[in-house]
Amino acid sequence: MTEGIKKDVIIIGAGASGLLCAIECGKRGRQVLVLDHGRRTGSKIRISGGGRCNFTNLNVTAGHYVSRNSQFCKSALARFTPRDVLDLVEQHHIAYQEKEAGQLFCVKSSADIIALLEAECARSGVEIRLKCSVAEIGKGRGFMVATGQGTFQAGSLVIATGGLSYPDLGASGLGHAVAKQFGLRIVPPRPGLVPFLFATRDQKVFQELAGISLDAALSCGPKRFRGSLLFTHRGLSGPAALQASLFWTPGELISIDLLPDRDILGAFMAKRRSRIELRNLLASYLPKRLAEAWCDQMTISKPLDQTSDKELKAIAGGLHAWKVLPKGTEGYATAEVTAGGVDTGELSSKTMEARKVPGLYFIGEVVDVTGELGGYNLHWAWASGFAAGQVA
Ligand SMILES: Cc1cc2nc3c(=O)[nH]c(=O)nc-3n(C[C@H](O)[C@H](O)[C@H](O)COP(=O)(O)OP(=O)(O)OC[C@H]3O[C@@H](n4cnc5c(N)ncnc54)[C@H](O)[C@@H]3O)c2cc1C
Repeated sequence: MTEGIKKDVIIIGAGASGLLCAIECGKRGRQVLVLDHGRRTGSKIRISGGGRCNFTNLNVTAGHYVSRNSQFCKSALARFTPRDVLDLVEQHHIAYQEKEAGQLFCVKSSADIIALLEAECARSGVEIRLKCSVAEIGKGRGFMVATGQGTFQAGSLVIATGGLSYPDLGASGLGHAVAKQFGLRIVPPRPGLVPFLFATRDQKVFQELAGISLDAALSCGPKRFRGSLLFTHRGLSGPAALQASLFWTPGELISIDLLPDRDILGAFMAKRRSRIELRNLLASYLPKRLAEAWCDQMTISKPLDQTSDKELKAIAGGLHAWKVLPKGTEGYATAEVTAGGVDTGELSSKTMEARKVPGLYFIGEVVDVTGELGGYNLHWAWASGFAAGQVA
């Protein structure tokens, strides 16, 4: 590969982590070039949080992240906190609001966050090249990156290419390929925060319910998520299902409490001598169509006075622990994140630098650190970008 234009730092990926890292490197007087094959910066930020970008969470702790090494993210999270994000947001006069559980969203639009990042990049003298595809990466004394816009060279190379989800928005496997090229281990990637697909039998019964949502609790192994559950044409979505998907392994049953906090057996017993049909009684606790489909599927709906105690107990138990065996998930096309990625054992938790390859850094979603729903993934992008930005 021929030598090219020299920079101090090349960052591949103009998303959340790449731009934050670029700003920090630029502030230190480093000559920074950000490359991205997309037409715009921050494509995922733009669609995040339904267009309002849930940019951080006041409750950020390592406990909200999934990784083979649950301790790895601690150091970066400690050095770039939700308060640091807010300082930036407030300096740029971006109106924000707290939704449930510490989730901070833009009041107007996620475009405000992208404008903030672009303005800070411009202030730090960062050069951004878009529509720039990477053909080859080589290493001599520094790193050489051959692109459709020429070859560039730098002593530090930061990989901020994100995960595999939403390929329509520019996601690619480049980050994983670079890790492999330099002999770094990868934790097998998989779609995360993604809707479940019903098995064929369940889909036939429940597809009619598409659009219905209710407050439920989903358990996947020891993890339990309370929140909204949404029936789709193909399966289950909504925050509770998306969260559970992070912990689900194919072939595993999920258990759904359709009536959390409610003593439905007590409600049955209170009407023990009534002639009311079970499906009609259930319709006062569940959306009517769900009550009907659930009764059709699971039980015979009889008047309560003709149903035995044993049957009522079994029905109540089923409502609190409806066992579903998904046939899979919707996959990368709609997954909010990619779990897995560059094995954290290969990286310094302080700087994100590859231990075996000085000068090579991995930040953001490409690393095996995946946040729960609620602003944790963008916060990891900021925090890991900040950590690398202090040294790259
Ligand atoms: C629909 C949706 C909603 C979301 N909402 C939220 C939310 O509200 N809050 C939250 O915390 N998280 C949210 N997330 C997750 C969050 O957006 C990501 O975790 C975060 O953007 C990851 O940042 P990153 O910098 O690692 O990668 P990205 O932001 O994905 O940036 C990667 C960049 O690398 C570029 N790139 C990739 N491959 C190449 C290549 N081969 N050559 C050149 N450039 C390349 C891409 O074009 C992209 O610009 C959401 C995700 C989705 C899909």
